[in-house]
Amino acid sequence: MVHTMQPIEDAKSRVLIVDDAVEVHRLLRARLKDDDLEFTSAFSASEALEKAVSWRPDLILLDIVLGGDDGLRLLRTLKADERTRDVPVIVLSAQQSPEQKVLAFDLGAVDYITKPFEMVELRVRLRAALRVHQLVQMLAVKAQIDGLTGLWNRAFFDHRWREEYARCQRHQHPLCLAFIDIDHFKRVNDKFGHPVGDLVLQNVARVLRRECRQSDLVCRYGGEEFVIVMPDTHPRDAATLCHRLRAAIEEMVWSRSTELHVTVSIGVAGSTGSTVLSVDQWVELADKNLYLGKRSGRNRVVVTEVPSGPGLTGREAV
Ligand code: GH3
Ligand code: MG
Ligand code: MG
Repeated sequence: MVHTMQPIEDAKSRVLIVDDAVEVHRLLRARLKDDDLEFTSAFSASEALEKAVSWRPDLILLDIVLGGDDGLRLLRTLKADERTRDVPVIVLSAQQSPEQKVLAFDLGAVDYITKPFEMVELRVRLRAALRVHQLVQMLAVKAQIDGLTGLWNRAFFDHRWREEYARCQRHQHPLCLAFIDIDHFKRVNDKFGHPVGDLVLQNVARVLRRECRQSDLVCRYGGEEFVIVMPDTHPRDAATLCHRLRAAIEEMVWSRSTELHVTVSIGVAGSTGSTVLSVDQWVELADKNLYLGKRSGRNRVVVTEVPSGPGLTGREAV
């Protein structure tokens, strides 16, 4: 799962070469030196595992016979580890048997090239695997982004909120959650039409993103409702931010119509460390505060600190 909105950079693709034979490393590096690739070498399974995690390659070229180590066992380990699971692996091997190839593909290899290999063939297969990998990464990011506003979407929120909750419970980090709902948005649509309604959503989203910190996760929860996860943020600071957001949106000048006036209500629930609330109860509390803000006149911020206590862990927290 992709967590950060990293641009797909135009940087060199990183290839980790795993082979116990020094000549193979030398040959690959020499013959692919003009291909805009960056290489790192590993000569054993343990070294490969360490580099696959720390160097974060875009692709691994893996020899099956690794001195005393078994390359296929290494492949199994790479595919079982969340940190390396998504890195495509091309197996390079002198073993030509169909059983061996089937096994490698079953274990998750994206390609199998037999030694001695033709360099032109290796080059095009390497390129193809890197291209597919980059597309998969782009799709994974896209699947988490809201099309209208460009903010993170509900699926992303559901996943990350659980992660941040667990981190707060385990490490006693402060954490805040804010639900933001546009007031009387139905009236905006009814009076000015849906395209203007969409424009309002896009501009409110822009303000939210502009005012929040880089580390805050600003998401569109659905419809005209937004949610912000604020890791490492004290409830007092979250309250200050949310008052600023409320004011910034109220003060927005809408060039489309001077009659257009947009406000939001915000419900915040925050903690300075672990809490007795479950991950869903925390959401309910923020949502309840939003509802209180609506009931008490809209264009309000309602904040509560969630009850602290020994953190729930595992299933009971969910
Ligand atoms: P409240 O102050 O109580 O929140 O009232 P409200 O009118 O904002 O709330 P309500 O839930 O009654 O209406 C929400 C409206 O938001 C209804 C729906 O048509 C509109 N809406 C939801 N998604 C979109 C969208 O993507 N674009 C536009 N233009 N409107 C949307
Ligand atoms: Mg609303
Ligand atoms: Mg609503």
